[in-house]
Amino acid sequence: MKPFFYVANWKMAMNLHGVQAFIDAVRHDQTLVEPSASTIILCPAFTQISLVAAALKDTAIECGGQTCSPYASGAYTGQVSAGMLAESGCAYCIIGHSERRALAETDTDIAAQYDQLVNKKMTPIICVGETANEREAQKTTAVLEQQLLPLVAAYKNNPADRLLIAYEPVWAIGSGTTPTPQELADVFAWLKGFVAKNLDASRTFLLYGGSVDEQNAAAIKGVPGISGLLIGGASLEFKKFKNLVV
Ligand code: PEP
Repeated sequence: MKPFFYVANWKMAMNLHGVQAFIDAVRHDQTLVEPSASTIILCPAFTQISLVAAALKDTAIECGGQTCSPYASGAYTGQVSAGMLAESGCAYCIIGHSERRALAETDTDIAAQYDQLVNKKMTPIICVGETANEREAQKTTAVLEQQLLPLVAAYKNNPADRLLIAYEPVWAIGSGTTPTPQELADVFAWLKGFVAKNLDASRTFLLYGGSVDEQNAAAIKGVPGISGLLIGGASLEFKKFKNLVV
């Protein structure tokens, strides 16, 4: 069976009480912790990673960071390295999220973050996506190409064992609006072609993210080429998240 990924991006939205309640619900319910064809990756805030990783260590659920430093170590106040994430129990890390790009993370930084993660044998979850203006100007694939090409160069120098690419239109994140299934099918057909030409298709998985919820998840999952979902708001409540995943 083809693997399917569910990435929960908890951003800075969950306090310790919420994290503990989520973990307790996971352990109590048991449906998510059994190994299956789906991989569930929870991405808590840095300070919560060790707690989540330790609590779910004996389960099939994985942990991921929400970003990492482009540097291996050194005098970088406030940053967290890929090595530190790995030590805390992460096997994955989101990079290039539009909320990080908006805080001035550049394509060069993101390629360096990719390298740091691969050096620590972690799986990068690379986010790409166009703004509303870029979409209106019909520049979606041009933007995706521009965001992906520096990563192709990084991949050629330092190939990841596995790579997740999440298409996250900036206008869809947290807005309650998603592309139509046809729009998604067009973008994922383009991404599939890009991956076949520039990366290793057998190691690369394409995800969608942006306002996924219980109502739209089934239609989105049915779009050809989609092998996973990156979920923000709907991943914060265990019941909602479970309904998306099961
Ligand atoms: C995200 O921030 O990556 C995201 C997909 O958020 P939401 O599901 O809330 O749109």
